[in-house]
Amino acid sequence: MLSVMFAYEIAENIRQGKGSVLDVVTKALTRAKAVQEKHNAFITICEAEALARAKALDERLARGEVLGPLGGVPVVVKDNICTKGVRTTAASRILENFVPPYSATVVERLEHAGAILIAKSNLDEFGMGSSNENSAFGPTSNAWDESRIAGGSSGGSAVAVATGVVPLALGTDTGGSVRQPAALNGILGFKPTYGRLSRYGVIAYASSLDQVGILARNAKDIALAMNAMGGQDLHDATSLVDEPKFVEAVSKTGDLKGWKIGLIRELCSEGNSQGVQDALQQMCQKLEDLGAEIREISLPHVPYAIASYYIVAPAEASSNLARYDGILYGHREGENSLGQAKSMMKSRGVGFGPEVRRRILIGSYALSAGYYDAYYGKALKVRRLIANDFKEAFKEIDVLLSPTAPHSAFKIGEKSADPLAMYLEDIDTVAANLVGIGGISIPAGFSEGMPCGVQFLAPVMADERLLELAAILNQEIEVAQPWLS
Ligand code: GLN
Repeated sequence: MLSVMFAYEIAENIRQGKGSVLDVVTKALTRAKAVQEKHNAFITICEAEALARAKALDERLARGEVLGPLGGVPVVVKDNICTKGVRTTAASRILENFVPPYSATVVERLEHAGAILIAKSNLDEFGMGSSNENSAFGPTSNAWDESRIAGGSSGGSAVAVATGVVPLALGTDTGGSVRQPAALNGILGFKPTYGRLSRYGVIAYASSLDQVGILARNAKDIALAMNAMGGQDLHDATSLVDEPKFVEAVSKTGDLKGWKIGLIRELCSEGNSQGVQDALQQMCQKLEDLGAEIREISLPHVPYAIASYYIVAPAEASSNLARYDGILYGHREGENSLGQAKSMMKSRGVGFGPEVRRRILIGSYALSAGYYDAYYGKALKVRRLIANDFKEAFKEIDVLLSPTAPHSAFKIGEKSADPLAMYLEDIDTVAANLVGIGGISIPAGFSEGMPCGVQFLAPVMADERLLELAAILNQEIEVAQPWLS
């Protein structure tokens, strides 16, 4: 089936005139609908738009035009990334009917490269969650087991790729939301250095941490997407001057001789399931077999990353989400005669789900005048200490290694009544966002019959190194293919 091919294979076939874009897109849509019934992976399937675009691309091909490097590739985009003319909800009631008048830069660039948007994927409301259970549109279930969580917050994108609906999907990663669902569904999830992908048109959660990322089944596809989307964007003041060299990085094959890999001591023992520890062990063996040198390395402040993150992220969220007042933006509740203050309270009370309201409360509290120094100011200092740990570590080693999550996917409902247990799910991933570095989650085997992953982290702007590593490993690691069973 064409739609479960890799992105580079689809693009190559289309370039050679083997099959039509319409055929590829039709198959992807059929599969999307089947996956939707089982897993609730999407908020909107944009069938009419996708078919129209496929036909337009086929016409261009018929005229002898050459499409871009992703010509004919169907893609899914997380529903907190704006898509012109296609509803974008952030999985929130407050944006239930929002149809953006423009597309995010990342979407525009993917389309410019020839990709076709077929659906907007489900997520935790505004990206706040680790299981995809915080969506106003219901939870997404894991690609391998419908009774288990998809992970979050980019759970819908992960399931779309893991079930073979599309070879490429976009997510966002504020504290691990691309890497963790990728691990839990047995695929690759890549988040580059902060600033390497534009945030223009990405609905803000925590602006100093938010970064767009890519979910896929091999490194080559991620590289194609990164080269297509990367490069400075003048619409985003934090976008870096950059020349992405990912396609070049994945074409280097060979072994890992000369690579120094640091195992993060603080994340590689206590608190992980036996299955995750075993998967990590096997990965280390594989890396050594390929010639890499592995040494344990301590990042002493990493155990405080969760505490720092869960002050910084809600603080920024409380400010970013102030714009949804039912007056300028978002769902309005109640009669106009209520007056401004009551109308705003009512609209926000009804429009935001419980976790979003909790984060706004935590954030507002941490930022309030009397508590700023005690909480937000301290969290920033800890953030700096963590960054220094990484800086020191990278003087000695090329990449760092840890599990992506402490265990495989848990049951839907298992942790939803315990927000602190849910926050601890992010123990392995949040540090990279606090520091701004890139990371990739790579499938590493199974724990309790469910997929799990390991994460590699690289210094700022050295993201190409991660894809080079993933490409070398992929020669031997079988990427999970649940649709075949
Ligand atoms: N689980 C984390 C949170 O809830 C990270 C989410 C994300 O990366 N968007 O904040």
